[in-house]
Amino acid sequence: MVRYKSNKDKQIKQAKKIIDRLFYLIDNADYKLDDELRTRYIRIARKIAMKFRLKLNKEQKLRFCPKCHHYINPLKSKHRVKKSISIKCSNCNHKRIIHLIK
Ligand SMILES: [Zn+2]
Repeated sequence: MVRYKSNKDKQIKQAKKIIDRLFYLIDNADYKLDDELRTRYIRIARKIAMKFRLKLNKEQKLRFCPKCHHYINPLKSKHRVKKSISIKCSNCNHKRIIHLIK
């Protein structure tokens, strides 16, 4: 049995576990998920992260639109690759630009 320093540490550890699990389910769920359910999972994960002041990693942040927090479906959204990658949200048309060359 693992002993935790305090109840808060235990809660943070559990929160991290839940967030990882939610992002895992978005990609690898056995049953078919629609974009609305994926968006719901993202909102839950964000809320948990905000409550415990955890940071989502870079990979997780790329999954959703920074403006409307809608799930970015790689099949439906527009990607343009030049010197930078621009990803267009299918929900609100917000463009996110990722620079490759600095
Ligand atoms: Zn959006």
